[in-house]
Amino acid sequence: MTTNVTTVPAYAAPAANAPLERTTVPRRPVGEHDVLIDIKFSGICHSDIHQARDGWGEGIFPMVPGHEIAGIVAEVGPGVTKFQVGDRVGVGCFVDSCRTCEYCLQGLEQYCTGGMTGTYNALDKNGEPTYGGYARHIVVDENYTLRIPEGIALDEAAPLLCAGITLYSPLAHWQAGPGKKVAIVGLGGLGHMGVKIAHALGAEVTVLSQSLKKQEDGLKLGADHFYATSDPATFTELAGTFDLVISTVSAPLDFGAYLSLVKTDGALVNVGAPEEPVALNLFSLIGGRKTLAGSMIGGIAETQEMLDFCAAHGLGAEIEVIDADRINEAYERVLASDVRYRFVIDASTI
Ligand code: NAP
Ligand code: ZN
Repeated sequence: MTTNVTTVPAYAAPAANAPLERTTVPRRPVGEHDVLIDIKFSGICHSDIHQARDGWGEGIFPMVPGHEIAGIVAEVGPGVTKFQVGDRVGVGCFVDSCRTCEYCLQGLEQYCTGGMTGTYNALDKNGEPTYGGYARHIVVDENYTLRIPEGIALDEAAPLLCAGITLYSPLAHWQAGPGKKVAIVGLGGLGHMGVKIAHALGAEVTVLSQSLKKQEDGLKLGADHFYATSDPATFTELAGTFDLVISTVSAPLDFGAYLSLVKTDGALVNVGAPEEPVALNLFSLIGGRKTLAGSMIGGIAETQEMLDFCAAHGLGAEIEVIDADRINEAYERVLASDVRYRFVIDASTI
């Protein structure tokens, strides 16, 4: 058994805005508590595009995106107790955190005060850049590795590691369930998992999409209602309707308009990460004691809970599996809201 994985094939953006291309990147040797994962599938999240094009700033290049990783354990370090060679595993948006702050201790590692270590576009504790899932292998500490239950295919599981948990966490926190009216804004990678999970939780689910093009899909995914936000009548008809509205939109949005759809004491939770700030008239919050909140992915324990929930309810992502040489084309289609509903890279083509 070798413990020295020095370089692995990967797809990287060599510089901001440059197309992704095939390359190799270094991987650390398998340490005491590490697992070496043979990556089978890697989802394409809109966050990959924001970062590969340096839309959030301070990007580290060359950048290997990918934080929706599904694969098989190929090797374990001597101190590993949770996983064995052959296990089906996943990795999400972070691969380490301080492990001692109040949030890490509560299982909210995503809000680590020291800053969690991103799966890519970050520096690890040794100051080395991290490289993500658009690669053949990754080495990850077992404590930041998830178990993918039997019953979810690995390709359909990959997007759960970011899109799934990013919607599961606020749906759970704001108690979506029977008797609750939930709206999901934007039917893309995150949004379609939001519809599936909110429906499985028993909520009455409405999709708010730019047009009615995805209506048939939305209803099949579990939505009870579907409206086009391009139609001003939607905002009149749905005023004061929802306990919870979750926006997954990647571009700046008129949050005032969406707050008008929230009931008194309800919440508008934003999970989208647009590159530009938004303006808000605060009267849209005070009339109705409304909450405007944000939410970022989920902790390790909650991510495992989400995977187990999805397996129990037969939920995976709706995917289009692509070869790695189509990543740049897939990015353009995501930007055009033309994804049904997550691109997943077949890592064997990298
Ligand atoms: P996506 O697949 O592109 O989905 C976004 C959807 O938003 C689109 O399909 C589209 O749906 C809608 N949309 C796009 N542009 C719009 C516009 N200008 N106005 C109104 N609606 C628009 O992206 P994603 O992967 O789901 O990610 C969505 C956002 O969440 C990104 O900004 C991403 O970085 C962020 N994100 C945040 C977290 C977190 O932890 N908070 C985690 C992952 C991703 P319709 O066609 O239905 O309108
Ligand atoms: Zn993501």
